[in-house]
Amino acid sequence: MCEPPERGENVTVTFLTSAAGAARRVLIRQRSQCYGAVMSSPTNPDLIIIGTGQAGVPLATRLAAAGKRVTVFERGNAGGTCVNIGCTPTKTLVASARAAHVARTAERLGVHVGEVKVDFAAVMARKDGMVQRWRAGVEKHLAGAGERLNLVRGHARFVSAHAVEANGQRYEAAQIVINVGARPAVPDIAGLSDVPYLTSSSLLELRELPPRLLILGAGYIACEMGQMFRRFGAEVTLIAPSQRVLPRETPEVSEALAGVFRAEHIQLALGQAVASVARAHDGVQVTLKDGTKLAGSHLLVATGRRANSADLGCDAADLKLDEHGQLLVDERYQTSQKGVFAVGDCTPGPQFTHVSWDDHRVLFDVLTGKQARPRSQRLVPYTVFTDPQVAGVGLSEQKAREQGFEVEVATLPFGNVARAIETDETAGVIQVVVDAKTERILGAFIVGADAGELIHVFSTAMNSGASARTLVDAEFVHPTFAEGLQTAVMKLPRYALS
Ligand SMILES: Cc1cc2nc3c(=O)[nH]c(=O)nc-3n(C[C@H](O)[C@H](O)[C@H](O)COP(=O)(O)OP(=O)(O)OC[C@H]3O[C@@H](n4cnc5c(N)ncnc54)[C@H](O)[C@@H]3O)c2cc1C
Repeated sequence: MCEPPERGENVTVTFLTSAAGAARRVLIRQRSQCYGAVMSSPTNPDLIIIGTGQAGVPLATRLAAAGKRVTVFERGNAGGTCVNIGCTPTKTLVASARAAHVARTAERLGVHVGEVKVDFAAVMARKDGMVQRWRAGVEKHLAGAGERLNLVRGHARFVSAHAVEANGQRYEAAQIVINVGARPAVPDIAGLSDVPYLTSSSLLELRELPPRLLILGAGYIACEMGQMFRRFGAEVTLIAPSQRVLPRETPEVSEALAGVFRAEHIQLALGQAVASVARAHDGVQVTLKDGTKLAGSHLLVATGRRANSADLGCDAADLKLDEHGQLLVDERYQTSQKGVFAVGDCTPGPQFTHVSWDDHRVLFDVLTGKQARPRSQRLVPYTVFTDPQVAGVGLSEQKAREQGFEVEVATLPFGNVARAIETDETAGVIQVVVDAKTERILGAFIVGADAGELIHVFSTAMNSGASARTLVDAEFVHPTFAEGLQTAVMKLPRYALS
């Protein structure tokens, strides 16, 4: 199908269907001829982007709007992990799981709802609809970027420092941005490859509720999935060598969440590594190093994520990787190869959507010659979407002391917050780490209702360099959860009312 030539160019327009086979069509414009001074083409653009993740899409559309010819490669569904197999589907499912929990426990608020039944198929169908909606939005956004943006469906692989190959075609550009994301890491455990284990991606394709779900891992994906499936009605066991759930968090934070998990009858098999995994007659059996045997109908492996660098042809471009396969980059996102940049989950650092999106902002400034913030000088807040949520930003007490700070630490049980008592959401804790010399907030960690919203009070204060006293002097609305943040800070003797 052809469109009339624009601005003196012959333009070929091709319609492709999405990998999901949905009816949405992605407009791919291929310039067949160059006129005048413009010499770039889809195979020889100004810039190549590999991956339509949380950095790749806004970078591509903004650079195209700024006048650059951009060719973008995507081997899977547009929108990458967040939209298709990450944040969007899981947070949609968390909402259903929470509704079931609130209904089941409504009696404590004097509300009787009768038997609560989770329609797993309907829950998953709602999730699928949400994913399709967001994916269509990404595809529309890409198509709307106009003729300067060329989307190629296929796997791109470096064949030299500034050239990639996809679908048998060679593409070259002076600048290449890698936004290939990560995939579930599968540990080397005896027998694991012989059982039909699930990952965070394949779990999202289930159509029937697994009756007994064993989960390898106790990090954020394991915790979110574990609680969600427990609330859908599965028996759930988290298995990890760490002594605590969310082992990167402080002991107080881990314990607050573990208490909630125990109350919901999520089994915690912690402190023991897995010796082997084997098929059992009705599912799978996990044997721990101490000989304990755990049986389940299904096994989810949620033990971290590994960068998609192994099938990228990194050697051909002389791209240096760290020991986890992540692409090493400098403060301006440049890899070990000049003109080749990497952003998002495939680089060392926290793997979150907002990090990848922020990467694109900084790299956009780098690529367009603007003053850019250094990569390492930014605060990364995060949230684990369990219920209650777990959120944090900045330095823990231990890390702050290791960095030489003299610190004061304020701790408040979430159950001391008036609103939490009124809504009967008392589980959790608030911890604030303050620099004793400057009164600057160094870190904050919250387990509690809406912790993911509350943490922004701290990250904004920290970004602006405000002292903890700013929170003390501010007026907080009563009764809100946020009011508890002020109460927590006022636990420090220097801010206590006399
Ligand atoms: C279950 C789960 C839940 C999550 N929940 C949250 C959350 O609540 N909040 C949060 O902030 N983060 C969450 N994350 C993490 C978040 O999804 C990622 O950090 C985010 O998507 C950023 O990814 P990215 O931009 O690096 O790349 P991605 O989004 O992973 O995109 C990379 C893209 O590159 C494509 N690709 C890879 N290799 C090639 C190649 N060689 N050629 C062509 N295309 C290629 C892939 O198909 C993919 O589309 C979650 C992740 C998971 C798995």
